[in-house]
Amino acid sequence: MAVEGCCIGDWKGRWSHVQKFLERTEIYVYLFIYFSIFFSSCFVIFGQFVLHFKIHYSFCWKILVIGAGGLGCELLKNLALSGFRHIHVVDMYIIDVSNLNSFSLDVGRPKADVAAEFINQRVPGCNVVPHFQKIQDFDASFYRQFHIIVCGLDSIIARRCINGMLLSLLSYEDGVLDPSSIIPLIYGGTEGFKGNARVSLPGMTACIDCTLELYPPQITFPMCIIASMPRLPEHCIEYVRVLQWFKDKPFGDAVGLDGDNPEHVQWVFQEPLKRAAEFNITGDTYRLTQGVVKRIIPAVASTNAVIAAACATEVFKIATSAYIPLNNYLVFNDVAGLYTYTFEAERKDNCSACSQVPQKLQFPPSAKLQEVLEYLTENASLQMKSPAITATLEGINKTLYLQTVASIEERTRPNLCKTLKELGLADRQELAVADVTTPQTVFFKLNFTSETCSIKHVQN
Ligand SMILES: [Zn+2]
Repeated sequence: MAVEGCCIGDWKGRWSHVQKFLERTEIYVYLFIYFSIFFSSCFVIFGQFVLHFKIHYSFCWKILVIGAGGLGCELLKNLALSGFRHIHVVDMYIIDVSNLNSFSLDVGRPKADVAAEFINQRVPGCNVVPHFQKIQDFDASFYRQFHIIVCGLDSIIARRCINGMLLSLLSYEDGVLDPSSIIPLIYGGTEGFKGNARVSLPGMTACIDCTLELYPPQITFPMCIIASMPRLPEHCIEYVRVLQWFKDKPFGDAVGLDGDNPEHVQWVFQEPLKRAAEFNITGDTYRLTQGVVKRIIPAVASTNAVIAAACATEVFKIATSAYIPLNNYLVFNDVAGLYTYTFEAERKDNCSACSQVPQKLQFPPSAKLQEVLEYLTENASLQMKSPAITATLEGINKTLYLQTVASIEERTRPNLCKTLKELGLADRQELAVADVTTPQTVFFKLNFTSETCSIKHVQN
């Protein structure tokens, strides 16, 4: 991939920190030992030329940082100070009051804009381009321009979406992957005092979906506790979020709860206080309310700093070839003491995202479409959110169920109660499933099992 030109050596000592890594090549040492002083001076000049080229090439790589929150801002700062000059940042959120530990006096402005402005002012020569948009708003041509993509996201769906996008950019010739189509993907993730960093080479090493079982379903509280015997402030907040919001409709009939809308969060913060008082529960705060509503755990700055440093180091290693990249999963935990561990997450042969192996769905013909839908959302390896199922029946492409468009959902809802046979599906029928977790359609092959067998779902 071509790199944009840039001017280096802009102030004295600008590259001395990276020189220490890039000049480590042992060959120079041996050359100095075995050749005369006369020749060594030539090698010094040659070495300087190689170094200059290496810096010029590596630090002009175009980097995309996804997320401009606690982790994303650390990443931007680390990359800019390391010397990378062409950085884009994508973030769809605006700054609210609870973000004031990372941004000051900029409430209401897009995080990406504020972060980019700050870096551009503080690091001469660095050009950070902000995008106040969702990652799903960009097409393949946008992602194709980058040499490395780094994610500092708290959303698994967004990570899977990027993963799917980069997998869709891979090109194969006679079944052989073209290495130039690979864009390395580096993920950072933090949760309180725990964090992880990982390096993925799409199509070559484990992708996010290969290790989806590592992400357990989000914890929910049993409805009986929420409704009748709350013990924690979280239970009271959940009560208001799950039940009272829909009953009271504080912002009108069709307005759903938006965790990024301060007025909504304020309402959800105030209401549980009454319920908490009734059950003698204390400890509710605005910040906790927002955490429960958005399902987030308050960020710990030191964890973000460690994980961002690990991710930025991987970008540096890949861009400069200074050292072999992380292989491929780093775990960090400082809940009690300090613990860190690296292991190689393995690629899954039948990964629905990267294996290129058709997925199998085993159901008896009498199984209902609802059961297929539940399997797609509940299976630990798939964890789809709102799958839309289509099939080609008698040459016509037919939508069996689609949840995201209300009118189509209403029209296709009766199909959920129909059996696969009643829907006209046959053994070895191909089902195309689209979902928010991936920009690509996932294809499944239906394998009818005998009616006497218990329902068994097997992925190839
Ligand atoms: Zn995979």
